[in-house]
Amino acid sequence: MKNISILGSTGSIGTQTLEIVRANNDLNVVALAAGSNITVLEEQIREFHPRLVCLYNEKAAKQLKTAVSDTNVKVVAGMEGLIEAATYDSAEIVVTAFVGMIGIRPTLEAIKSGKNIALANKETLVTAGHLVMKAAGDYGVKILPVDSEHSAIFQSLNGENRKEIDKILLTASGGPFRGWSREQMKNVQVEDALKHPNWSMGQKITIDSATMVNKGLEVIEAKWLFDVDIDNIQAIVQPQSIIHSMVQFKDGAVIGQLGTPDMKLPIQYALYYPNRRYLAGDRLDFASIGQITFENPDLDNFVGLRMAYEAGRTGGSMPTVFNAANEKAVQKFLDRKINFLEITDIIHYCMENHKTIKNPTVEQILDIEQWAYELIDSRW
Ligand code: NAD
Ligand code: MG
Repeated sequence: MKNISILGSTGSIGTQTLEIVRANNDLNVVALAAGSNITVLEEQIREFHPRLVCLYNEKAAKQLKTAVSDTNVKVVAGMEGLIEAATYDSAEIVVTAFVGMIGIRPTLEAIKSGKNIALANKETLVTAGHLVMKAAGDYGVKILPVDSEHSAIFQSLNGENRKEIDKILLTASGGPFRGWSREQMKNVQVEDALKHPNWSMGQKITIDSATMVNKGLEVIEAKWLFDVDIDNIQAIVQPQSIIHSMVQFKDGAVIGQLGTPDMKLPIQYALYYPNRRYLAGDRLDFASIGQITFENPDLDNFVGLRMAYEAGRTGGSMPTVFNAANEKAVQKFLDRKINFLEITDIIHYCMENHKTIKNPTVEQILDIEQWAYELIDSRW
């Protein structure tokens, strides 16, 4: 029996993790955490019987407590509560599926209490990768990637010597606006940007895929997970989303992982690593796929990806600025306060106005996040 804690249990990755729990009788949920979704969390409590749950929103947590007073689940709230869920004593593995930088402190605390991490929450690695990877080494815990590309890279590295990596080939679908010019993207509406061609995901990452900022975040995520220089991580567009990513080795051999676009595979792989389990779902049929095509990403029109490479090369606190500015800008776009192209304008403006700090602490990272938010609110 493996005890797990799921941070972000009501979201896209969280609910798919629970689907895997439902299909396997050797996984046991001990703690769940989410933002404010009382209804879904209550259903999850009644089905999976966790010992502890947290809603970050205090008011929602209070309401939930009343709603589940007939059960013996402990309900907590706030950052302290998120950390309690992340460090829950009997949890062996913590699935980090929060969206955004809210995941930094719970993830670090989970590592410090010796939990292995199935990491979906890429924003935590982008902004605090140096702290997360160091802590994982110090406390001897595994960081198991859930992001499909990083899981593919991780699977491609099985049995290989990481020193023999030549480069990482990080595949991208190109999103719904692949091939479009900035001029064409000017009038993109929220509904258009929320239509991803291949994957069904939470709103924030779907917008990130439309701007290709997601691929930029993933380049930085890959740097931390696999200790590879930013310039040895090549983003390559492969619109069919069949090859989930590849590794090229010193001798020129390229090894990749292929599959249908289903996040349950990388989630399940992280939960059972190094073993594989049966997973229901479609299998690839190569003859009917016919062809898999490739193209370079368009860095002139998708400037978010270009800026991510710049932020990654600069390092220090610059990826925090890139990420925080994007989080705020995406929220404003979803709230229909700015237009689509302003997302990357905002990131650019914040990066231009930031003086990089080397090796920022958690406090500095969170201060920089606030600085970026205030700067953006003062202008947009
Ligand atoms: P989502 O929006 O569907 O779910 C986010 C979860 O985080 C929800 O449970 C929500 O309640 C919780 N949350 C949000 N704000 C919170 C707060 N302040 N405190 C506590 N909980 C809070 O997002 P998602 O698509 O599941 O993505 C989660 C993470 O996984 C993101 O980092 C994303 O980039 C990454 N990821 C997602 C997918 C996917 O297919 N959805 C694929 C790869 C990586
Ligand atoms: Mg991905």
